[in-house]
Amino acid sequence: MERFAIIGFGCAGYHGLRAIREAGCSARVDVYSETALPPYNPMLTTYYTAGRLPYEGLFPFGTLPEIAREYEAELLTGTRVAKVDAKARAVTTADGTRREYDKLLVATGATAFVPGSFAHLRGAFCMRTVEDAVALHDALEKREYQNAVIVGASMVGIKVAELLHKRGCQVTLADMAPHIFALAAYPEVSEMIEARLRKLGIELAFGQAITGAEETLDENGQVKETTVRLADGRELKTELLVLNIGTRAATGILDPKEVQTDRGILVNERMETSAPGVYAAGDCCQGREMQSGGQMIIGLWANAATQGRVAGRNMAGGSAETDGNILHNITHFLDMDFIGLGDNRLTGEVRTYQSPDKGFYIQAVLRDGRAAGFNILDNYRVSGILKAHLIKLLRGQAGPFSPEQRGQLIRCGLEPAFIEALEGKK
Ligand SMILES: Cc1cc2nc3c(=O)[nH]c(=O)nc-3n(C[C@H](O)[C@H](O)[C@H](O)COP(=O)(O)OP(=O)(O)OC[C@H]3O[C@@H](n4cnc5c(N)ncnc54)[C@H](O)[C@@H]3O)c2cc1C
Repeated sequence: MERFAIIGFGCAGYHGLRAIREAGCSARVDVYSETALPPYNPMLTTYYTAGRLPYEGLFPFGTLPEIAREYEAELLTGTRVAKVDAKARAVTTADGTRREYDKLLVATGATAFVPGSFAHLRGAFCMRTVEDAVALHDALEKREYQNAVIVGASMVGIKVAELLHKRGCQVTLADMAPHIFALAAYPEVSEMIEARLRKLGIELAFGQAITGAEETLDENGQVKETTVRLADGRELKTELLVLNIGTRAATGILDPKEVQTDRGILVNERMETSAPGVYAAGDCCQGREMQSGGQMIIGLWANAATQGRVAGRNMAGGSAETDGNILHNITHFLDMDFIGLGDNRLTGEVRTYQSPDKGFYIQAVLRDGRAAGFNILDNYRVSGILKAHLIKLLRGQAGPFSPEQRGQLIRCGLEPAFIEALEGKK
């Protein structure tokens, strides 16, 4: 009997396992997971911390016994893989146990990045794992923080800012980038969001690197206050520091001489790596980004699911492919919706639409008369159609919106003239 291994049991690992079984494959599957928890959704961590989701809600695929029963897998939880020997097709766990495999899926995700200048801090929080969510949740239960500094004005940073603001905390959002959502928003749209945040009383400290931080302890040795230093000499004093500086693909278990890596593990459209029998999926890998045609980490839940499914089907002997994805973000925070579709660094002809009565805003960038990216404020209902349109263009299927899409866009408040502009007709 063939023996498969899956390392990492988040969204990508779970979907890999499920696809193997749904393809009718009966290989033995060893699933290595460093946590003792069922696969969880990192997107929901801030909802748990905010008290808006019960703990069980973090685990969308059920309990470990349920999953093991349904998909007949050997779930080796609490078992961290220390290294992969791709030549010998073997996995060694942290306790030194070595097991062989015929095919391997690496689905190790990403970890929160904490730069060296913050590594010594005892009281700083991150937001990536269930443990991070529980730590901040419990800290907020124990102490009423008056103020907080959140480093990293990303989709994660804004969700943390939201939950603390709603608890009555005076929040400062800091980032080296000059604007919020630097990887997704056009500058004008960032400025609109920033104006709204300032109006809510959230302070913004953008455009300055954060060079370090020092903690002051109380008489019990607990962190009383942290001083965060900015490159321009300013200091921010805070009771609570949350670092959402970014993530790094978890690739350390692989030997780059055996499995080609860049920022993440390099994969083709079948999710195969450069090593025979080794597949990768999710936040640990660099799949195809459709706009550039290059390989990029696209750290999104749906992307991890698709990649995991493709890898699983191919491990099972099938022939599945994904032609990639585009950069996109859909975030709801502080009663607003921001949607960014496409690479926001691409410039071109800018078209904007401000709904006169429904209060939403769209900024589109067109290149050679074809849409290359969208920012949408406060109208998530059009995002699916605009994303599908962008992907269609990238697949070389140029053409107008279908009558159904056009009807839906009009129902969602867009005027025909703007729709035609998006189709390059005006
Ligand atoms: C706060 C937050 C908000 C987000 N919001 C959105 C959003 O709005 N929309 C969206 O699409 N995406 C969002 N994301 C991103 C999304 O959650 C991820 O893209 C997705 O969960 C990636 O899944 P994954 O399976 O690749 O990785 P992970 O979920 O990171 O799973 C990897 C697993 O592998 C395990 N592992 C790692 N190394 C080892 C090892 N050596 N041995 C054994 N096990 C190991 C890890 O413990 C982990 O459980 C958000 C993420 C966060 C943190």
